[in-house]
Amino acid sequence: MPVKKKKPMAEKVKPVAKKKAVSSVDTAAAQKKVKLYQPVRGMKDILPKDDWYWSKIVDVAKNITRAYGYRYSEPPVLESASLFVKSLGKGTDVVDKEMYVFDDREGEKLALRPEFTAGVARSYISNGLLNNAQPVKMWMLGPLFRHDRPQAGRYRQFHQFDCEVIGEKDPVIDAELIVMAYNVIRDLGITPEVHINSIGTIEDRQNYTIELVGYLKSKRSYLSEESKKRILKNPLRVLDSKEEQDQEVIAEAPQIIDWLSAESKDFFMKVIEYLDELQIPYVLKPTLVRGLDYYSDTVFEIYSEQMIEGSQTALGGGGRYDGLLEQLGAREATPASGFALGVERIMLAMKELDQQAQGGPIKRDTIQNKIFFAQLGAQARRRSLFLIEQLRRVGIMVGSSLSKSSLKGQLEIANKQGSTHSIILGQKEVQDGTLIIRDMSSGVQEIIDQKRLEKHLRKLLEE
Ligand code: AMP
Repeated sequence: MPVKKKKPMAEKVKPVAKKKAVSSVDTAAAQKKVKLYQPVRGMKDILPKDDWYWSKIVDVAKNITRAYGYRYSEPPVLESASLFVKSLGKGTDVVDKEMYVFDDREGEKLALRPEFTAGVARSYISNGLLNNAQPVKMWMLGPLFRHDRPQAGRYRQFHQFDCEVIGEKDPVIDAELIVMAYNVIRDLGITPEVHINSIGTIEDRQNYTIELVGYLKSKRSYLSEESKKRILKNPLRVLDSKEEQDQEVIAEAPQIIDWLSAESKDFFMKVIEYLDELQIPYVLKPTLVRGLDYYSDTVFEIYSEQMIEGSQTALGGGGRYDGLLEQLGAREATPASGFALGVERIMLAMKELDQQAQGGPIKRDTIQNKIFFAQLGAQARRRSLFLIEQLRRVGIMVGSSLSKSSLKGQLEIANKQGSTHSIILGQKEVQDGTLIIRDMSSGVQEIIDQKRLEKHLRKLLEE
Protein backbone atom coordinates (compact mmCIF):
# COMPACT_ATOMS: atom_id res chain seq x y z
CA MET A 1 0.00 0.00 0.00
CA PRO A 2 1.44 3.36 -0.99
CA VAL A 3 0.69 4.93 2.40
CA LYS A 4 2.73 2.30 4.19
CA LYS A 5 5.63 2.48 1.76
CA LYS A 6 5.98 6.23 2.07
CA LYS A 7 8.64 7.15 4.58
CA PRO A 8 7.37 10.14 6.56
CA MET A 9 9.73 12.84 7.83
CA ALA A 10 11.29 12.16 11.21
CA GLU A 11 9.56 14.97 13.05
CA LYS A 12 6.16 13.90 11.71
CA VAL A 13 6.62 10.32 12.94
CA LYS A 14 7.51 11.34 16.48
CA PRO A 15 4.15 12.40 17.93
CA VAL A 16 2.44 9.31 16.49
CA ALA A 17 5.02 6.99 18.07
CA LYS A 18 4.76 8.91 21.34
CA LYS A 19 0.98 8.64 21.44
CA LYS A 20 1.13 4.91 20.81
CA ALA A 21 3.66 4.31 23.55
CA VAL A 22 1.66 6.30 26.08
CA SER A 23 -1.61 4.61 25.20
CA SER A 24 -0.10 1.13 25.46
CA VAL A 25 1.38 2.02 28.84
CA ASP A 26 -2.01 3.45 29.82
CA THR A 27 -3.77 0.25 28.79
CA ALA A 28 -1.26 -1.94 30.59
CA ALA A 29 -1.63 0.20 33.72
CA ALA A 30 -5.41 0.09 33.49
CA GLN A 31 -5.35 -3.71 33.18
CA LYS A 32 -3.14 -3.99 36.26
CA LYS A 33 -5.19 -1.31 38.06
CA VAL A 34 -2.02 0.68 38.75
CA LYS A 35 -2.09 4.45 39.12
CA LEU A 36 0.07 5.97 36.41
CA TYR A 37 2.08 8.86 37.81
CA GLN A 38 2.91 11.99 35.85
CA PRO A 39 5.40 14.63 36.92
CA VAL A 40 3.89 17.27 39.21
CA ARG A 41 2.61 20.28 37.23
CA GLY A 42 5.42 22.62 36.23
CA MET A 43 8.14 20.05 37.05
CA LYS A 44 10.16 18.78 34.15
CA ASP A 45 12.15 15.57 33.73
CA ILE A 46 15.69 16.00 32.46
CA LEU A 47 15.83 13.36 29.72
CA PRO A 48 18.64 11.55 27.89
CA LYS A 49 17.69 13.36 24.66
CA ASP A 50 18.89 16.62 26.23
CA ASP A 51 22.18 15.21 27.53
CA TRP A 52 24.22 16.93 24.81
CA TYR A 53 22.87 20.39 25.64
CA TRP A 54 22.90 19.89 29.40
CA SER A 55 26.48 18.54 29.44
CA LYS A 56 27.69 21.33 27.18
CA ILE A 57 26.27 24.01 29.52
CA VAL A 58 27.84 22.31 32.55
CA ASP A 59 31.21 21.94 30.75
CA VAL A 60 31.29 25.59 29.69
CA ALA A 61 30.28 26.70 33.20
CA LYS A 62 33.06 24.57 34.71
CA ASN A 63 35.72 25.82 32.31
CA ILE A 64 34.84 29.46 32.79
CA THR A 65 34.57 29.35 36.58
CA ARG A 66 37.92 27.58 36.77
CA ALA A 67 39.52 30.17 34.48
CA TYR A 68 38.28 33.00 36.74
CA GLY A 69 39.24 31.31 40.03
CA TYR A 70 35.82 30.32 41.41
CA ARG A 71 35.26 27.33 43.70
CA TYR A 72 32.16 25.11 43.72
CA SER A 73 29.94 25.73 46.70
CA GLU A 74 26.20 25.12 47.15
CA PRO A 75 23.72 25.89 49.93
CA PRO A 76 20.97 23.31 50.68
CA VAL A 77 17.69 23.19 48.82
CA LEU A 78 15.78 23.88 52.05
CA GLU A 79 16.26 26.99 54.17
CA SER A 80 14.17 28.84 56.73
CA ALA A 81 11.39 30.56 54.81
CA SER A 82 12.08 33.82 56.65
CA LEU A 83 15.61 33.97 55.15
CA PHE A 84 14.08 34.59 51.71
CA VAL A 85 11.35 36.91 52.99
CA LYS A 86 13.96 39.05 54.73
CA SER A 87 16.40 39.02 51.81
CA LEU A 88 14.20 39.34 48.74
CA GLY A 89 11.58 41.44 50.51
CA LYS A 90 7.81 41.40 50.89
CA GLY A 91 6.01 42.77 47.85
CA THR A 92 8.12 40.77 45.40
CA ASP A 93 6.37 38.14 43.27
CA VAL A 94 8.85 35.47 44.34
CA VAL A 95 8.09 35.93 48.06
CA ASP A 96 4.40 36.84 47.86
CA LYS A 97 3.23 34.40 45.21
CA GLU A 98 5.83 31.86 44.19
CA MET A 99 7.66 30.36 47.16
CA TYR A 100 7.05 26.75 48.15
CA VAL A 101 6.64 27.16 51.92
CA PHE A 102 5.68 24.42 54.35
CA ASP A 103 5.93 23.41 58.00
CA ASP A 104 8.26 20.47 58.48
CA ARG A 105 7.64 17.72 61.03
CA GLU A 106 9.01 19.86 63.84
CA GLY A 107 6.76 22.73 62.83
CA GLU A 108 9.59 24.86 61.41
CA LYS A 109 8.60 27.05 58.46
CA LEU A 110 10.85 26.05 55.56
CA ALA A 111 11.06 27.05 51.91
CA LEU A 112 12.40 25.33 48.82
CA ARG A 113 15.03 27.81 47.63
CA PRO A 114 13.58 30.10 44.93
CA GLU A 115 17.06 31.52 44.16
CA PHE A 116 20.66 31.09 45.31
CA THR A 117 21.81 34.49 46.60
CA ALA A 118 20.08 34.50 50.01
CA GLY A 119 21.27 30.96 50.78
CA VAL A 120 24.84 31.75 49.72
CA ALA A 121 24.86 34.88 51.91
CA ARG A 122 23.56 32.82 54.86
CA SER A 123 26.19 30.14 54.14
CA TYR A 124 29.02 32.71 54.05
CA ILE A 125 27.98 33.98 57.49
CA SER A 126 27.22 30.67 59.18
CA ASN A 127 30.45 29.06 57.95
CA GLY A 128 32.64 32.03 58.91
CA LEU A 129 33.92 32.50 55.34
CA LEU A 130 34.82 35.99 56.45
CA ASN A 131 38.04 34.38 57.69
CA ASN A 132 38.96 33.14 54.20
CA ALA A 133 41.00 35.22 51.75
CA GLN A 134 38.63 37.87 50.40
CA PRO A 135 36.74 38.07 48.18
CA VAL A 136 35.29 34.54 48.26
CA LYS A 137 34.38 33.54 44.70
CA MET A 138 31.82 30.76 44.49
CA TRP A 139 29.87 29.05 41.72
CA MET A 140 27.02 26.59 41.83
CA LEU A 141 24.49 24.86 39.61
CA GLY A 142 21.31 23.30 40.90
CA PRO A 143 17.52 23.29 41.11
CA LEU A 144 15.37 26.21 42.27
CA PHE A 145 11.63 26.23 42.89
CA ARG A 146 9.01 28.85 42.12
CA HIS A 147 5.27 28.27 41.99
CA ASP A 148 4.87 30.37 38.87
CA ARG A 149 2.43 29.84 35.99
CA PRO A 150 4.11 27.11 33.89
CA GLN A 151 4.76 27.90 30.22
CA ALA A 152 7.59 27.46 27.71
CA GLY A 153 10.81 28.47 29.47
CA ARG A 154 9.07 28.86 32.83
CA TYR A 155 8.89 25.87 35.15
CA ARG A 156 8.24 25.31 38.83
CA GLN A 157 11.53 23.48 39.16
CA PHE A 158 14.29 24.97 37.06
CA HIS A 159 18.07 25.18 37.26
CA GLN A 160 20.50 28.04 37.48
CA PHE A 161 24.21 28.37 36.97
CA ASP A 162 25.19 30.97 39.52
CA CYS A 163 28.34 32.91 40.49
CA GLU A 164 28.75 34.99 43.63
CA VAL A 165 31.65 37.14 44.85
CA ILE A 166 31.43 38.05 48.53
CA GLY A 167 33.69 40.23 50.69
CA GLU A 168 34.90 43.11 48.53
CA LYS A 169 33.46 46.07 46.68
CA ASP A 170 35.13 47.11 43.47
CA PRO A 171 33.68 47.92 40.05
CA VAL A 172 36.17 45.51 38.53
CA ILE A 173 34.36 42.63 40.30
CA ASP A 174 31.06 43.60 38.67
CA ALA A 175 32.71 43.99 35.27
CA GLU A 176 34.34 40.57 35.61
CA LEU A 177 31.01 38.94 36.58
CA ILE A 178 29.36 40.49 33.52
CA VAL A 179 32.20 39.29 31.30
CA MET A 180 31.87 35.78 32.73
CA ALA A 181 28.11 35.65 32.10
CA TYR A 182 28.75 37.06 28.62
CA ASN A 183 31.44 34.46 27.89
CA VAL A 184 29.30 31.53 29.05
CA ILE A 185 26.50 32.55 26.71
CA ARG A 186 28.87 33.27 23.82
CA ASP A 187 30.75 29.97 24.28
CA LEU A 188 27.41 28.18 24.00
CA GLY A 189 26.96 29.66 20.53
CA ILE A 190 24.45 32.37 21.49
CA THR A 191 25.12 36.06 20.80
CA PRO A 192 24.69 37.72 24.20
CA GLU A 193 23.13 41.12 24.69
CA VAL A 194 23.92 42.73 28.04
CA HIS A 195 21.50 45.24 29.57
CA ILE A 196 22.94 47.26 32.43
CA ASN A 197 21.89 49.94 34.91
CA SER A 198 22.69 51.22 38.38
CA ILE A 199 20.06 51.53 41.10
CA GLY A 200 22.44 53.22 43.56
CA THR A 201 22.53 52.81 47.30
CA ILE A 202 19.50 52.01 49.43
CA GLU A 203 19.18 55.74 50.28
CA ASP A 204 19.41 56.75 46.60
CA ARG A 205 16.66 54.28 45.89
CA GLN A 206 14.46 55.48 48.72
CA ASN A 207 14.68 59.06 47.48
CA TYR A 208 14.03 57.99 43.92
CA THR A 209 11.10 55.79 44.95
CA ILE A 210 9.30 58.76 46.54
CA GLU A 211 9.63 60.64 43.25
CA LEU A 212 8.58 57.60 41.21
CA VAL A 213 5.50 56.88 43.32
CA GLY A 214 4.40 60.52 42.94
CA TYR A 215 4.79 60.26 39.18
CA LEU A 216 3.04 56.87 38.91
CA LYS A 217 0.13 58.06 41.02
CA SER A 218 -0.32 61.01 38.67
CA LYS A 219 -0.50 58.55 35.73
CA ARG A 220 -2.45 55.86 37.56
CA SER A 221 -5.43 55.83 35.17
CA TYR A 222 -3.17 54.99 32.21
CA LEU A 223 -1.58 51.96 33.90
CA SER A 224 -2.51 48.27 33.69
CA GLU A 225 -4.28 46.70 36.68
CA GLU A 226 -1.12 44.83 37.73
CA SER A 227 0.98 48.01 37.67
CA LYS A 228 -1.69 49.93 39.60
CA LYS A 229 -1.37 47.33 42.37
CA ARG A 230 2.40 47.69 42.33
CA ILE A 231 2.49 51.47 42.85
CA LEU A 232 2.44 51.05 46.61
CA LYS A 233 3.60 47.42 46.92
CA ASN A 234 6.72 47.49 44.75
CA PRO A 235 6.81 50.64 42.59
CA LEU A 236 10.21 49.89 41.00
CA ARG A 237 8.71 46.75 39.52
CA VAL A 238 6.30 48.87 37.45
CA LEU A 239 9.34 49.83 35.35
CA ASP A 240 9.78 46.13 34.54
CA SER A 241 6.23 45.73 33.24
CA LYS A 242 5.91 44.15 29.81
CA GLU A 243 2.29 45.32 29.42
CA GLU A 244 1.85 47.34 26.23
CA GLN A 245 -0.47 49.72 28.07
CA ASP A 246 2.27 50.70 30.56
CA GLN A 247 5.04 51.48 28.09
CA GLU A 248 4.31 55.15 27.51
CA VAL A 249 4.16 55.91 31.23
CA ILE A 250 7.40 53.98 31.80
CA ALA A 251 9.19 55.79 28.97
CA GLU A 252 8.46 59.17 30.57
CA ALA A 253 9.10 58.13 34.18
CA PRO A 254 11.89 59.80 36.16
CA GLN A 255 15.11 57.81 35.74
CA ILE A 256 16.96 56.38 38.67
CA ILE A 257 20.31 57.32 37.16
CA ASP A 258 19.50 61.00 37.93
CA TRP A 259 19.09 60.15 41.61
CA LEU A 260 22.40 58.39 42.15
CA SER A 261 24.86 59.75 44.71
CA ALA A 262 28.20 60.92 43.33
CA GLU A 263 29.80 57.76 44.74
CA SER A 264 27.34 55.42 43.02
CA LYS A 265 27.63 57.34 39.74
CA ASP A 266 31.40 57.07 39.87
CA PHE A 267 31.20 53.35 40.67
CA PHE A 268 28.86 52.75 37.73
CA MET A 269 31.05 54.76 35.35
CA LYS A 270 33.99 52.55 36.29
CA VAL A 271 32.04 49.33 35.65
CA ILE A 272 31.21 50.67 32.20
CA GLU A 273 34.79 51.76 31.52
CA TYR A 274 36.01 48.25 32.34
CA LEU A 275 33.44 46.76 29.98
CA ASP A 276 34.60 49.18 27.28
CA GLU A 277 38.18 48.18 27.99
CA LEU A 278 37.21 44.53 27.49
CA GLN A 279 35.18 45.42 24.40
CA ILE A 280 32.04 43.87 25.84
CA PRO A 281 29.01 45.50 24.20
CA TYR A 282 26.14 46.56 26.47
CA VAL A 283 22.91 48.49 26.36
CA LEU A 284 22.25 51.11 29.08
CA LYS A 285 18.71 50.44 30.35
CA PRO A 286 17.45 53.17 32.68
CA THR A 287 14.35 51.11 33.51
CA LEU A 288 16.21 47.96 34.55
CA VAL A 289 15.72 47.55 38.32
CA ARG A 290 15.47 43.80 39.04
CA GLY A 291 12.82 44.35 41.72
CA LEU A 292 14.33 42.40 44.66
CA ASP A 293 15.08 44.31 47.86
CA TYR A 294 18.70 43.23 48.23
CA TYR A 295 20.08 44.79 45.05
CA SER A 296 22.18 47.98 45.07
CA ASP A 297 24.34 49.78 42.49
CA THR A 298 25.07 47.60 39.44
CA VAL A 299 22.21 45.52 38.00
CA PHE A 300 22.31 43.69 34.70
CA GLU A 301 20.48 41.16 32.56
CA ILE A 302 21.59 39.10 29.65
CA TYR A 303 19.52 38.19 26.59
CA SER A 304 20.05 36.27 23.39
CA GLU A 305 20.49 38.81 20.63
CA GLN A 306 19.03 36.38 18.12
CA MET A 307 15.84 35.89 20.15
CA ILE A 308 15.43 39.38 21.47
CA GLU A 309 12.76 40.41 18.96
CA GLY A 310 10.46 37.49 19.61
CA SER A 311 10.77 37.04 23.32
CA GLN A 312 11.28 39.34 26.23
CA THR A 313 12.66 36.69 28.53
CA ALA A 314 16.14 37.05 29.96
CA LEU A 315 18.65 34.22 29.97
CA GLY A 316 19.89 35.51 33.29
CA GLY A 317 20.68 38.47 35.43
CA GLY A 318 22.38 39.71 38.51
CA GLY A 319 23.83 42.60 40.39
CA ARG A 320 25.43 43.90 43.53
CA TYR A 321 23.90 43.29 46.97
CA ASP A 322 26.10 45.22 49.36
CA GLY A 323 23.64 45.48 52.25
CA LEU A 324 22.34 41.91 52.37
CA LEU A 325 25.00 40.22 54.48
CA GLU A 326 24.91 42.84 57.21
CA GLN A 327 21.14 42.63 57.20
CA LEU A 328 21.49 38.88 57.76
CA GLY A 329 23.81 39.40 60.71
CA ALA A 330 27.35 39.68 59.27
CA ARG A 331 29.63 41.32 61.87
CA GLU A 332 30.81 44.02 59.49
CA ALA A 333 30.00 45.52 56.12
CA THR A 334 30.31 42.66 53.61
CA PRO A 335 29.73 43.81 50.05
CA ALA A 336 28.82 41.24 47.41
CA SER A 337 27.86 40.79 43.77
CA GLY A 338 26.68 37.92 41.58
CA PHE A 339 24.59 36.60 38.71
CA ALA A 340 22.44 33.62 37.77
CA LEU A 341 21.77 32.16 34.33
CA GLY A 342 18.78 29.89 33.70
CA VAL A 343 19.91 26.51 32.36
CA GLU A 344 16.58 25.60 30.75
CA ARG A 345 16.31 29.05 29.11
CA ILE A 346 19.82 28.71 27.69
CA MET A 347 18.98 25.21 26.46
CA LEU A 348 15.87 26.54 24.69
CA ALA A 349 17.94 29.30 23.06
CA MET A 350 20.56 26.77 21.90
CA LYS A 351 17.88 24.51 20.43
CA GLU A 352 16.21 27.46 18.75
CA LEU A 353 19.49 28.42 17.09
CA ASP A 354 20.17 24.84 16.02
CA GLN A 355 16.72 24.76 14.49
CA GLN A 356 17.23 28.07 12.69
CA ALA A 357 20.57 26.85 11.30
CA GLN A 358 19.31 23.43 10.23
CA GLY A 359 15.78 24.35 9.15
CA GLY A 360 14.28 21.83 11.59
CA PRO A 361 14.93 20.10 14.89
CA ILE A 362 18.31 18.38 15.02
CA LYS A 363 19.37 15.48 17.13
CA ARG A 364 22.54 16.01 19.07
CA ASP A 365 24.04 13.06 20.89
CA THR A 366 26.83 12.95 23.43
CA ILE A 367 27.53 9.28 22.81
CA GLN A 368 29.94 9.49 19.87
CA ASN A 369 32.84 7.05 19.62
CA LYS A 370 35.40 6.93 16.87
CA ILE A 371 36.10 3.30 17.74
CA PHE A 372 33.49 0.68 18.57
CA PHE A 373 34.22 -2.69 20.18
CA ALA A 374 31.94 -5.52 18.98
CA GLN A 375 32.00 -9.10 20.30
CA LEU A 376 30.52 -12.41 19.29
CA GLY A 377 30.02 -15.35 21.69
CA ALA A 378 30.29 -15.85 25.46
CA GLN A 379 34.07 -16.22 25.60
CA ALA A 380 34.61 -13.20 23.38
CA ARG A 381 32.29 -11.13 25.53
CA ARG A 382 34.31 -11.98 28.65
CA ARG A 383 37.59 -11.15 26.90
CA SER A 384 36.11 -7.90 25.49
CA LEU A 385 35.13 -6.80 28.98
CA PHE A 386 38.77 -7.15 30.00
CA LEU A 387 40.24 -5.49 26.89
CA ILE A 388 37.80 -2.52 27.01
CA GLU A 389 38.60 -1.96 30.67
CA GLN A 390 42.33 -2.02 29.87
CA LEU A 391 41.81 0.58 27.13
CA ARG A 392 39.80 2.81 29.51
CA ARG A 393 42.63 2.66 32.04
CA VAL A 394 45.06 4.08 29.47
CA GLY A 395 42.56 6.77 28.51
CA ILE A 396 41.20 5.27 25.28
CA MET A 397 37.41 5.38 25.12
CA VAL A 398 35.62 2.94 22.84
CA GLY A 399 31.91 2.39 22.31
CA SER A 400 30.42 -1.01 23.08
CA SER A 401 27.12 -2.75 23.64
CA LEU A 402 28.11 -5.83 25.58
CA SER A 403 24.55 -6.97 26.29
CA LYS A 404 23.93 -7.43 22.55
CA SER A 405 24.92 -10.68 20.85
CA SER A 406 24.19 -10.00 17.17
CA LEU A 407 27.14 -8.57 15.25
CA LYS A 408 24.80 -6.78 12.84
CA GLY A 409 23.02 -5.06 15.73
CA GLN A 410 26.33 -3.96 17.24
CA LEU A 411 27.63 -2.55 13.95
CA GLU A 412 24.41 -0.58 13.56
CA ILE A 413 25.07 1.01 16.96
CA ALA A 414 28.66 1.72 15.86
CA ASN A 415 27.27 3.60 12.86
CA LYS A 416 24.87 5.57 15.07
CA GLN A 417 27.79 6.55 17.29
CA GLY A 418 29.68 7.80 14.25
CA SER A 419 32.46 5.21 14.60
CA THR A 420 34.99 5.13 11.78
CA HIS A 421 36.34 1.75 12.87
CA SER A 422 35.01 -1.26 14.75
CA ILE A 423 37.06 -3.85 16.58
CA ILE A 424 35.51 -7.29 16.22
CA LEU A 425 36.34 -10.11 18.62
CA GLY A 426 34.89 -13.61 17.97
CA GLN A 427 35.60 -17.10 19.26
CA LYS A 428 38.42 -17.65 16.74
CA GLU A 429 40.16 -14.37 17.60
CA VAL A 430 39.99 -15.14 21.33
CA GLN A 431 41.83 -18.39 20.63
CA ASP A 432 44.37 -16.80 18.25
CA GLY A 433 45.01 -13.77 20.45
CA THR A 434 44.01 -11.53 17.52
CA LEU A 435 41.35 -8.94 16.68
CA ILE A 436 39.63 -7.77 13.50
CA ILE A 437 39.70 -4.05 12.74
CA ARG A 438 36.92 -3.05 10.36
CA ASP A 439 36.85 0.20 8.44
CA MET A 440 33.18 1.18 8.78
CA SER A 441 32.90 3.07 5.50
CA SER A 442 34.78 0.72 3.13
CA GLY A 443 34.07 -2.53 5.01
CA VAL A 444 37.77 -3.47 4.63
CA GLN A 445 39.00 -5.60 7.53
CA GLU A 446 42.48 -6.32 8.85
CA ILE A 447 43.66 -8.67 11.54
CA ILE A 448 45.98 -7.50 14.29
CA ASP A 449 47.58 -9.05 17.35
CA GLN A 450 45.75 -8.20 20.60
CA LYS A 451 49.04 -6.99 22.05
CA ARG A 452 49.20 -4.30 19.38
CA LEU A 453 45.65 -3.01 20.10
CA GLU A 454 46.55 0.07 22.13
CA LYS A 455 49.21 1.22 19.67
CA HIS A 456 46.95 0.57 16.70
CA LEU A 457 44.06 2.51 18.23
CA ARG A 458 46.25 5.47 19.14
CA LYS A 459 47.22 5.70 15.48
CA LEU A 460 43.60 5.50 14.33
CA LEU A 461 42.51 8.10 16.88
CA GLU A 462 45.16 10.51 15.64
CA GLU A 463 43.95 10.28 12.04
P1 AMP B 1 15.77 35.79 38.19
O1 AMP B 1 16.52 35.55 39.45
O2 AMP B 1 14.28 35.69 38.35
O3 AMP B 1 16.20 36.98 37.42
O4 AMP B 1 16.17 34.55 37.26
C1 AMP B 1 17.39 34.44 36.62
C2 AMP B 1 17.21 33.51 35.46
O5 AMP B 1 16.73 32.25 35.91
C3 AMP B 1 16.18 33.97 34.46
O6 AMP B 1 16.73 34.88 33.56
C4 AMP B 1 15.79 32.68 33.80
O7 AMP B 1 16.76 32.31 32.85
C5 AMP B 1 15.85 31.70 34.94
N1 AMP B 1 14.52 31.50 35.53
C6 AMP B 1 13.90 32.25 36.46
N2 AMP B 1 12.69 31.75 36.75
C7 AMP B 1 12.52 30.67 35.98
C8 AMP B 1 11.48 29.70 35.82
N3 AMP B 1 10.36 29.74 36.53
N4 AMP B 1 11.67 28.70 34.91
C9 AMP B 1 12.80 28.62 34.18
N5 AMP B 1 13.82 29.49 34.31
C10 AMP B 1 13.69 30.50 35.18
